[in-house]
Amino acid sequence: ATRKATLRSQWKSFKSKIRELRDQEKMAALHAELQLLASLDPLTGIQNRRSAQEAIERIWEAKGGVHQTIAFLMLDIDNFKKLNDTLGHAAGDDCIKNVASRIRECVRDGDIVSRYGGEEFLVVLAGTTSDKALNVAERIRTSVAELRMTRPEADTDHRVTVSIGVALGKGDQTQQDLLNRADEALYLAKNNGKN
Ligand code: GH3
Ligand code: MG
Ligand code: MG
Repeated sequence: ATRKATLRSQWKSFKSKIRELRDQEKMAALHAELQLLASLDPLTGIQNRRSAQEAIERIWEAKGGVHQTIAFLMLDIDNFKKLNDTLGHAAGDDCIKNVASRIRECVRDGDIVSRYGGEEFLVVLAGTTSDKALNVAERIRTSVAELRMTRPEADTDHRVTVSIGVALGKGDQTQQDLLNRADEALYLAKNNGKN
């Protein structure tokens, strides 16, 4: 009888341990899912600004990060306010989604593509060269320029273009410096005819 009681109690504690493990696993899965959701922009499904900033931090912290060339591409949709005004806010949202997927098609899986603000995107290429970075920027520019936004009741298609500022540097420079220079380059592109 004593042996039976011992076995029964061992079996009970074994079952409760299994249950606990299952709960932990569920919690871990839930936690991972929440983290993923918190890092994505709900409209486009690409990284949000905060998550991009964390990914950029990781590049800077990585071993050897100081020596590799890093490119910041700051993108802004041209005349977006006009698109919103003529085709409506829903078409504007659609346009942002389309631009995001065009950008993603033009980069590699490991590159950072993020929605930085309303109609602004930040792309970060690590371990690149100036030729490669400019190539990517040009590919994005031409790919977006093929987009046409339309609405059944509107009689003209709306063309979509982006302006892109590119800054190159090494990990020994600050992220803020690269961001500022990409911003300045974007400003130049806007003042020199956009697209
Ligand atoms: P520029 O060529 O100089 O960039 O001019 P722009 O009209 O694109 O720039 P502006 O900053 O004047 O307008 C951006 C507009 O984007 C204003 C804002 O209402 C709109 N916007 C921001 N976020 C969203 C969004 O999530 N959805 C939609 N539909 N519009 C947005
Ligand atoms: Mg803008
Ligand atoms: Mg704009």
